[in-house]
Formats: sequence, C-alpha cells, structure tokens
Amino acid sequence: MYTQCPDCEIAFKVTADVLKQAAGKVRCGSCGNVFNALLYLTEQMPKQPTPKTVGADLSELRPEITNADDGFTSTIIIPEKGAEEKALEDSGDKSQNADESDNNRISIIAGVVALVLILIVQFMHQSREALATIPAFSNTVGQVYRVLGRPVQPSWDITGWRFEITKGNIEDEEALTVYSRLGNNSDGPLPYPLINISLTDRFKEPIGSQILDPNEYLPTNLDPRKLVKPGNTFNAVITIKLATEDATGFKLNVCYRLSDRRLRCAIDDFK
Ligand SMILES: [Zn+2]
Repeated sequence: MYTQCPDCEIAFKVTADVLKQAAGKVRCGSCGNVFNALLYLTEQMPKQPTPKTVGADLSELRPEITNADDGFTSTIIIPEKGAEEKALEDSGDKSQNADESDNNRISIIAGVVALVLILIVQFMHQSREALATIPAFSNTVGQVYRVLGRPVQPSWDITGWRFEITKGNIEDEEALTVYSRLGNNSDGPLPYPLINISLTDRFKEPIGSQILDPNEYLPTNLDPRKLVKPGNTFNAVITIKLATEDATGFKLNVCYRLSDRRLRCAIDDFK
C-alpha cells in the first residue's frame, strides 16, 4: 500500500500497522505536512512529482506518534507532538471525560434509586401495622416480617365493630351465657375481634373480666381466621362460669392485639 503527501506529492510505503496507530495520521518527512494517510491510500505506486525527491527506495512511513529513536533515522519520520497530536489527545480526553460523566450520571441515578428504595422501605416499616391490613402487603412484605420472626400485627380498625344485639342469661346462677351480634361497620374487611366480657355487680362495678379469642365464641361453622366483609355480621355465643354470686350484669368490649401484646379496644375506658 502507498500513500501520498497531498502537499509535496511524495509517496510513501505504508503498512496496516502504521495506519492503525494514530488513526492514520502521519507527518510527511519531506515537507513536514501532517495528513491522514488513509485518505491518500493507493494500491499502486502513485505518480511522483520528480524522481529526484523520491530517491532510490520508497521510504517507509511511520505513524506520526512514533518516536524516531527506534532505529529509524530517516528524515521521513518526525515525531510530532504538535497541535495535531494534541488535538488527538484532547479528543481522547474528551471521550474519557464523557465516559466519566456517564459513570457519574449512572452512580447518581443509582444513588437516587437506592434512596427512594430506602424511603419506601422506611415508610413501609413505619406504617407496617396499617399496611398489614391490606392483603397484598400482608401476603408479600408481611411474609418477610414473619420469616424474620417479627410478625406484624395489623392495625385493624377496632372502632369498625358495632354491637347490634346483646342478650345475656344467667342460668342456674353458675354460668352466664351471652348472645351478641356484631357488625362490621367499617369500610374494609376486619378479622374477628377478641371479645372482652366484664362482669359487674349490682353497683355496676366490674368484678372480673375475661378475654375470648374468636374460636371461643364463634359457632363451629365459621372460620375464625377469615375476615368479615364490610356490612356483614356474625353471632357470638359467650359462656362463662360465674365464680361469685355477686355478678348481676356484664359489659362487652371488642379488642385487637397489638404487636407488644397490649390490646387496642373499642371502648377505651372499659372496665
Ligand atoms: Zn510532503
């Protein structure tokens, strides 16, 4: 392959290796012109202006960035650290800078995404008891808490329950049986509550109380683990033994268990 200086029209032999280096940029050893050897490539030996300037052999062309001290002493190679190469270096710097700013952008985006994820996790952790009332949360994130041994007690709306009918019979003065119908008056489904029954004496003062789980008051045909849909009702049958003859009445409350084993009840000052 040959290339030819566009200025002085001197021809040079050129190899693919030389062209690869410096992207084909070379400096003409004859006139000092820097040109792109790729633009003037020919397979045939180009026409020379005057045989004199060519000499007996065609000089080999070397890439512009190559140093001349590697045994090649001909005047053809002039290591160029001039404007052209600087431009090359600059453009290299630029693409490096572009890479860096791309990397920066990626790390900024990654940082923002991580931050948003942390905020979401934090929000979910702080409101996990409220979120746990949503099946989609309970069935997904709730599982994670269960696996971690920190099950979330959903903050169900205990005030959603209404006592619709309550009847109590003291039979044979040893047992009290209470029939009560409770309705879910809230906007969402609710699990069966705990029922707190409190016995009162004839001065309406409490003399004892008992907390019943759903499976203790529900008829056997109802699954205590199911949720009660809004507007639905259920019947509770509560039978407790009377340890004292002083009990003349009773009061009912509904409660949900909180995470720390405390209760949240519908009637706050319930005794
Ligand atoms: Zn030239």
